[in-house]
Amino acid sequence: MERYEKQIIFGEIGVEGQKKLLNKKAIIIGCGALGTVIANNLTRSGVGYIKIVDRDYIELSNLQRQILFDEEDIKENLPKVIAAERKLRKINSEIKIEPLLTDVNSTNIEEICKGMDIILDATDNLQTRYLINDLSIKLNIPWIYGAVIGSSGMVHTIIPNETPCLRCMFPEIPTIGATETCDTAGVLNSITSIVASLESMEAIKILLDKKSTVIKGLQYIDIWTNDFEHIDMNIDENCIACGKNNFEFMNRSTEEAVYLCGKNSIQVNPMQKEISAENIVRRLKSLDIDVKQNAYFIKFDIEDVQITLFYDGRAIIKNTNDIKRATSLYARYIGN
Ligand SMILES: [Zn+2]
Repeated sequence: MERYEKQIIFGEIGVEGQKKLLNKKAIIIGCGALGTVIANNLTRSGVGYIKIVDRDYIELSNLQRQILFDEEDIKENLPKVIAAERKLRKINSEIKIEPLLTDVNSTNIEEICKGMDIILDATDNLQTRYLINDLSIKLNIPWIYGAVIGSSGMVHTIIPNETPCLRCMFPEIPTIGATETCDTAGVLNSITSIVASLESMEAIKILLDKKSTVIKGLQYIDIWTNDFEHIDMNIDENCIACGKNNFEFMNRSTEEAVYLCGKNSIQVNPMQKEISAENIVRRLKSLDIDVKQNAYFIKFDIEDVQITLFYDGRAIIKNTNDIKRATSLYARYIGN
């Protein structure tokens, strides 16, 4: 317990609280700017079991804000969850850390999240957040919403039927193009660490059963204009999700190809369980394509794009925002 001395001295936690944390399970969905800070905080705080899910590998432009990664990880071509796990184990070897290299979608979210005590949103897209919201209500697991853009960010804590859910606050997903994205507005590392730290604190309060202390409503922060605003929110009794238990996003079929915001990439996910890696590599080499391969994926450049193919059949096609082109490249070079 020595490593947790300073938070045990904090009266609201104490030895009992620390023991409680060591017996709790948290899942962090996304291992980017928010996810790395949250994982760092929860690991050092001694949350006993931390599952980290992410679909992506590390790139140089991530290092400005994704605190668990360094240049060595990029040289090694590591997926984010694998590099994060290595770092976190060095920080705290007494807790269990489970990395999961996958895309979270309607077909697997329930399996991935069941049994967890808290879900932390560290995603970069609304689609997944609405999916988390449905799942949270369905399985009665609290979740912490966090979002950042430019110099501003928001946090909200959702305890099913006790605080307003995401759809109580924003009943419908804004249409594509209606909101700014990291592609158009960028993001500062101070706001990602503030929002992620607020999310971590909210999670710990819930894990300690101190629900009365969580943020009530929406906490908005802009560190450039120095706005710290608290916006009251109410449960909507007619809410499709928490009022009527209609889980639209869980019932929605998953799109095979999606644009990855901030990456100028398309993810193609044919939802196959495995691929014939050997055959694919042989075929690419016979076309004189330079193929790099490691324990996690196959990577090659073709035309003006870079294709990273994971062993579950999912691919990230970089340097394009054209979904049709990406799926056709996938069909041509990987297979149908
Ligand atoms: Zn609701």
